[in-house]
Amino acid sequence: MLADLPRLLRSLPLRRGVPLLFWLAGTVALAGGATLYLHGQDRAAVQRAYTEAEAAAETLEQLVFRVFETVESLHDLMQSRHSLQEAGNLAGAEAVAQHLVRVAGNGRFAVQQVSIIGADGRMSWSSGGSSGIWLGDRPYFHAHSQLGFAGLYLSPPLVSRSTGRLGITATRPLRNADGSFAGVAVVLLDPLALSQLLQEQGPQPGLVYRLRRLPDGALLAVSHDRDEALASPPNPAHPAVIAAATTHQGRLRFVPPTLRTQVLAAFRAPRDIPLVAFAAIDEVAALADYRHRQALVILGLVIASLVGLLAAVMFTVNRALRERLADEAVRDPLTGLFNRRHLTEVMRPAVNATARDGGLVGLLLLDLDRFKEVNDSLGLPVGDATLCAVAQRLRTTLRDSDTLVRLNADVFAVMTPGMREAGDASALAARLLAALVLPLQVQGHAISLSASIGIALAPLDGGSPEQLIRNAEIALYRAKAEARGQHRFFEPAMDAAMQQRRAMELGLRDALAKQELELHYQPLFDLRQWRVTGFEALLRWRRPGIGLVSPADFIPLAEETGLITPIGAWVLRQACLDAAGWPAGVKVAVNLSPVQFRDGGAVPVVQAALELSGLRPERLELEITEGVLLQDSEETLQQLRALRALGARVALDDFGSGYSSLNYLLRFPFDKVKIDRSFVGDLGSGAGGEGTVIVRAIIGMCRNLNIATTAEGVETQDQLLRLTQEGANEAQGYLFSRPRPAAEVPAMLEEPTRKLVRAAA
Ligand code: C2E
Ligand code: MG
Ligand code: MG
Repeated sequence: MLADLPRLLRSLPLRRGVPLLFWLAGTVALAGGATLYLHGQDRAAVQRAYTEAEAAAETLEQLVFRVFETVESLHDLMQSRHSLQEAGNLAGAEAVAQHLVRVAGNGRFAVQQVSIIGADGRMSWSSGGSSGIWLGDRPYFHAHSQLGFAGLYLSPPLVSRSTGRLGITATRPLRNADGSFAGVAVVLLDPLALSQLLQEQGPQPGLVYRLRRLPDGALLAVSHDRDEALASPPNPAHPAVIAAATTHQGRLRFVPPTLRTQVLAAFRAPRDIPLVAFAAIDEVAALADYRHRQALVILGLVIASLVGLLAAVMFTVNRALRERLADEAVRDPLTGLFNRRHLTEVMRPAVNATARDGGLVGLLLLDLDRFKEVNDSLGLPVGDATLCAVAQRLRTTLRDSDTLVRLNADVFAVMTPGMREAGDASALAARLLAALVLPLQVQGHAISLSASIGIALAPLDGGSPEQLIRNAEIALYRAKAEARGQHRFFEPAMDAAMQQRRAMELGLRDALAKQELELHYQPLFDLRQWRVTGFEALLRWRRPGIGLVSPADFIPLAEETGLITPIGAWVLRQACLDAAGWPAGVKVAVNLSPVQFRDGGAVPVVQAALELSGLRPERLELEITEGVLLQDSEETLQQLRALRALGARVALDDFGSGYSSLNYLLRFPFDKVKIDRSFVGDLGSGAGGEGTVIVRAIIGMCRNLNIATTAEGVETQDQLLRLTQEGANEAQGYLFSRPRPAAEVPAMLEEPTRKLVRAAA
C-alpha cells in the first residue's frame, strides 16, 4: 500500500493537484500575512526601544544639568573669592573659601576637589589643601589664558597632579575687576563617581548611558563598565558626537566600536555644556521579545504549512484511493475488463438514448464452448490465462465505443450502441466468433476455442439493462443448446420456453418430497421361452394440474440441475423394492443417467438399493446409454466393472441411435444390447430392407460377442416375426404392453403370452 504511493501519485491527473495548489496559495497567503505582521511588530519594537532610550537620555540630561549647576555655582564662588581678595576683603575671601571646601568635601555630584590656578599657571588655592603645583601646561589653561576661551572647558579624564587620581576638570577663567585674565577656576570631577551617578539613574536592563566630551568624543562616564572610560581613546567620529554637532537631540542607530551588534540610541547635547549624553539599547535585547514572537510565528507558519501539506496530500491520496476502489468495484480482477455492474451503468443511458433518438443498442453475450475442458485438462492457471487472452482478442476486434465486459466465468458481454439494424449485430457476432477461431497461444499451449453468442437488442428486446441481459442470456442458452459456435437472436417465444423450464425446475425440486414421482413397468418378452421374464422401470411425474409427464420431458432438466442424483437413487430403490415382491426369476431393468456416474456415484447407490430391498443382484439389470461412455471413459468403465462385480447385469440402451461406436462393445463386456426402436420401426421397410440389414448385423455381431439382444419398440406382429427369425433374444414394445403402474405387473406377466397366442390362433 505504502509502496504503491509514488505510482499512485504519478498516476494522478492534473486536476488532482488542485488541493496542492490550494495548499501553496494558502501557504503564500499565510507567509505574506505573517511578514506584514512581523514587519509591524518589528517597527513597533524599534519604536519602543527608541522611546525608552529617549526617556533615558532625557533623564541623563537632567542629571548633567544638576551636576553642572553645581559646577557653575562652584565657579561663581571661586570668582567671588577672587574678587573679594582683589578688593582686599580677606575675611570674606576666607569665608567663601571655607564654603568651597565644605561643598567640595561632601563629594556631591562627583565633585572631587575645587582649586584656583593663578594667572601664572600655578595652583594658588585648592580645597584639597595643596598649592603651588604647576598647571600652566594644561590645555584648559592654555585655552583660557592664551586663546581667551571664556566658556566652560571640560577635559578628558586625566590624572590630577594634586590628588594623583583620575579626574575630569571643568574649568572657567577668573576675571579681575578690570576684566583681565586672573587665572582659572577648576572643579575636579571624579569620572568614576560620575559613572556611579549614571548607574544610579536606574537604567533599564539593556540600556547603557554614556557621556562623551565634545568635540573629541572622549568618554567621560559610562553606566555599566567604568574602566572603559579610562581605556577608550577619544572618538570624534562617534555618531553621537557627529550628530550633536548639528542638533541638540535625536536618535541614532549604529554599531559601537566596543560591541559588534547594532544599538538603538537617543542623545541629548545640553546647551553650553560641551558634552553629549546618550542612552543606547542593544538592538538584540530591544528586539528579543520581537524575535521570540517572530520565531513563534515562523514556527506556527511552518507547522500550519506542514499540516496543510499533509492534509492536501492525504486528501489527494484518499481521493485517488477512493477512485481506485470505485474503479476496482466495476472491474473484473482477472482480466481487468469491466464487470456486470459497469455494464448496467453504461447501458442504462445508452438504452434511454435509443428511446429518444432511435437506433439500436446491441447486447451480445458470448459463452466459450467447452471452456471447462481447458480448466480440467490444463489446470486453472492456464484456464485463467486463456480467459485473459480471449479478453485481449475480443478487445482488438471491437471499436472504442463498444463496451467489453466479463460477466462471469467464461461469459463475456459486448454492448454496442448506435446500431442501425439487427444485421449489424449479426455481423459483429460473426466477427467475434471468427476472431476466436485462430488458436490462442497460452503458456506454451495452443488452445482452440469456439463460442456461442446470444443477442438482445434495445429497445426491441427490453427497455432496461437487466431485461436486456436476461433476454440475451436466454438467446445464449438457446444458441448453446441448438448450435454451438453460432449466434442466436432473442425471440419472445424463447422467453416463454425459458419460463416454462423455470417453472418445471421449481416443480421438479419438490416432486420427490411430494411423492409426485412414480414408476411404471413395461414387460420384457423372452423370444425363446415365449413369456415375460422381466420389466423395465420407467419413471413418470404426476405433475399437479398437468398430469403425467414423460421422462423425455423432464429427465434432461433433472440432469442439468443435478436433481437426477436424488431422483435416480429413488428410482433404483423403488424398482428393487417392487421387484423383490415379484415371482423369483423375474428381472427388473433400471435406467441410469450419465450424471449418476460422475464422481463414482453409481456403485454405492446400486449397492444400497440392493441391500435395502434384499433383491438378488442378478435380477437387476442396469441400462446405460452411450452418453455414459462418452465421459471420462476409463473411470466409467471401472464403475461398470464394479457394478457387474456386484452381480448386476449391464445393458447398452438405445444402441445405434447415438454416436454408436462399435468400439464400446469391444471395450466392455455388456450383458445385453438394446436395439434402438428406430431400427425396429424400419424392419422390412425400404426396397432393400435396410432396417432388416442393420438389425441382422447388430444381432449377428452380438451373438459373436456373446451379448444378448433386446429389440425395443416392437409394435407389430410382423416386426415380432422378423425379429424372431433374425434371432433376437428379447422384445419390448406396445405389442406386448405399454408401461403400466406397478400394481399391474402380475397381470402383465400373463397377458402378453395370452394375447400373442390369441393373435396366432
Ligand atoms: P428407454 O430406456 O429407451 O425406454 C423405452 C422408451 O420407449 C419408453 O419411453 C417407452 O415407453 C417407450 N416405448 C416402449 N415400447 C414402445 C413402442 O412400442 N413404441 C414406442 N414409440 N415407444 C415405446 P419413456 O417411458 O417415455 O421413457 C423415455 C426414456 O426416458 C427412456 O428411454 C429412458 O431413456 C428415459 N427414462 C425413463 N425412466 C428413466 C429413469 O428412471 N431414469 C433415467 N435415467 N432415465 C429414464
Ligand atoms: Mg431403457
Ligand atoms: Mg431404449
